[in-house]
Amino acid sequence: MPSNSVLLVEDETDIREMLTFSLQRAGFRVRSAETAEQAVQILDGPLPNLVIIDWMLPGMSGVELARRLRGDALTAELPLLMLTARGEESDKLRSFDAGIDDYVTKPFSPRELIARIKALLRRSGEPDDGVIAHGRLALDTRGGHVKVGEERIHIGPTDFRLLELLMRHPDRAFDRAQLLDRVWGRNVYVEERTVDVHVLRLRKALSPYGMGEAVETVRGVGYRLSRQLAAG
Ligand code: CA
Repeated sequence: MPSNSVLLVEDETDIREMLTFSLQRAGFRVRSAETAEQAVQILDGPLPNLVIIDWMLPGMSGVELARRLRGDALTAELPLLMLTARGEESDKLRSFDAGIDDYVTKPFSPRELIARIKALLRRSGEPDDGVIAHGRLALDTRGGHVKVGEERIHIGPTDFRLLELLMRHPDRAFDRAQLLDRVWGRNVYVEERTVDVHVLRLRKALSPYGMGEAVETVRGVGYRLSRQLAAG
């Protein structure tokens, strides 16, 4: 799933389509699910930046879905926004209990929802302009490109997602299994050494700019983006 992406879980077709349209027009990339079960499947793939969950869903409810996502290390930190119907005030407290970050009460305007999404992304550390930068290395999550200084670097979509994850969490080491889950998703079978291949490719793309070492090997663990080496 590309950057700046939202997963919308809503069973009502009209609302789902209207929100998809509004979110896309606001620059978001949208995937949608009609049920919580379908959302769980989608979330086994590369993760979105935020999930919007309708409270009332057939089968597994929105609150159950939220609880499940919070209980899973892979999705525990994913920003969650709940859509609720009027008159569910006491239920709202329960939804915060389930780890919801914010909620919007129906009926709402798309503009209001988008403002809340942006605020929530900002609170969870998403840069306002969508650009994550460390030193001269800058990754534009909306434009989908990477620059060192003024020069644009060409990397493939998987390498981009890998670099994005590392740049979002500088100096944090990820092991190969974590990188596979987050960048490739759980629903594909990829060998761990695939991660090494992509790291080598990233280093090769960055090395003409003296940044080949910024994606560092952490012995016995895996890889990390070194803030210090990216700044150098
Ligand atoms: Ca519903």
